[in-house]
Amino acid sequence: MAHLYVDGEWREPVAKGQRDIRCPADGTLVATVAEGTRPDTEAAIAAARRAFDEGPWPRTPERERGALLLRTADLMERDAKEFARAESLDTGKRLVESEYDIADVVACFRHYGGIAGTDAGRVIDTGRDDAVSRVVYEPVGVCGLITPWNYPLLQASWKVAPALLAGNTIILKPSELTPSTSVLLMKALQEAGLPAGAANLVLGTGPEVGAPLSEHPDVDLVSFTGGLETGKRIMASAAATVKKVALELGGKNPNVVFADADFEAAVDFALTAVFLHSGQVCSAGARLIVEDALHDRFVNEVVRRARLIRLGGPFDPDAETGALISAQHLSKVEAYVAAGIAEGAVLRCGGTRPDDPALANGHYYPPTVLDACTQDMSVVHEESFGPVLTVERFTDEDDAVRIANDTDYGLAGAVWTQDAGRAQRVARRLRHGTVWINDYHPYVPQAEWGGFGHSGVGRELGRSGLDEYREPKHIWQNIQPRPQRWFSG
Ligand code: NAD
Repeated sequence: MAHLYVDGEWREPVAKGQRDIRCPADGTLVATVAEGTRPDTEAAIAAARRAFDEGPWPRTPERERGALLLRTADLMERDAKEFARAESLDTGKRLVESEYDIADVVACFRHYGGIAGTDAGRVIDTGRDDAVSRVVYEPVGVCGLITPWNYPLLQASWKVAPALLAGNTIILKPSELTPSTSVLLMKALQEAGLPAGAANLVLGTGPEVGAPLSEHPDVDLVSFTGGLETGKRIMASAAATVKKVALELGGKNPNVVFADADFEAAVDFALTAVFLHSGQVCSAGARLIVEDALHDRFVNEVVRRARLIRLGGPFDPDAETGALISAQHLSKVEAYVAAGIAEGAVLRCGGTRPDDPALANGHYYPPTVLDACTQDMSVVHEESFGPVLTVERFTDEDDAVRIANDTDYGLAGAVWTQDAGRAQRVARRLRHGTVWINDYHPYVPQAEWGGFGHSGVGRELGRSGLDEYREPKHIWQNIQPRPQRWFSG
């Protein structure tokens, strides 16, 4: 079985490992894929190193690299149905959501393809006529790109597209649970004409494939999206070889609702914020922070509507959200809810696995609302990464900001109010990387994506997304070299 893409060819893993991929919605076998181990990872690193040191890619003009990204986008758009179906089967998410994800993937490649060649650095005024000085950008080198299972191809694209545009060579390691669309991406890059070794794919586990990428001296940069604890391990092991590190970790994101908010819209988005993709979204609005005066009416309506959300598989036209990724993850979410209740939270809806026999073979958990929460509860300050909304209440603007910022994370958040001044004030005071005003979840590839605190290191998307993968290099040139005669004689 040849699912590892190394040095421009599809290879079998050295140890002949395999993994069954089962759909989280019903346990059906989706694919059996090759599973690599350390020797496969080392072969991919060697290929990427050679391609960087000797191959054409880093020396290809940036506009040509951009053109390849644009061709890749076209190919993915051509095959969008196949990509979306594969994403849904691996993740269990609704087909329509996968279709949106693939459209975002295409947009990401087009964004980076489109900015190719538009930033050649800058010239610095030396104030002299015998010297010129300029800053240019160089690729960092060999990049290890490690991605999670919740938005498999989108997370990969946010790394692959800027890394390749900047002229790096890469090794992509997707989550072992959701490898299918990364295989399709490599096929698209191959068809678009990417030179051998510029992009490599190794499927496998964190210890066998991810860890060597953060340890190996021939890897110059490791970019990781995933959980906090894995991120800390990667940062520590990358220190030994002083790698550049970019981390996109989790979030525990506040959704702050003032009493003057547009009620219908705020309720509607409070549900989308946390229950989209069953809460398996790093920017999920899992903490509802609502003004005292509005609390009862608002939470009652959120609970009423949360109870109506229909669960189901990716191809069920009536389903509004899907299963969790694995049995292990389902148990983790359940444990957070149990701990919250034990610590004093009030269960308003959900909280037990559904008894619908049609859902029996999937990892389903219902939309769950916990009221009367406080920041010391683990379900409030740690990421459950499931369909669990915690509710806290506040008295005034300062109180709202204090509660919303009382988290080690700082990825995203929202503020709902019809007072335009307050909206801006609160948005500026929130210590979170993306803040939505009277909205939740939209993102644009032109804007930065990153976080404060434990949410990460570095930025993805926008211009600074590209800057993660290139090094500014200052070049000074004396254009009239002459003896300086510092010393007599
Ligand atoms: P995870 O940390 O378990 O795994 C992420 C990736 O790291 C996988 O490919 C995994 O195989 C690999 N990995 C595991 N151990 C490793 C090791 N020792 N060395 C190197 N790689 C290793 O995370 P997950 O469960 O796949 O994803 C969920 C997490 O991702 C959540 O915490 C979520 O918030 C976060 N996330 C963050 C963002 C963001 O933009 N900030 C986006 C999506 C997901």
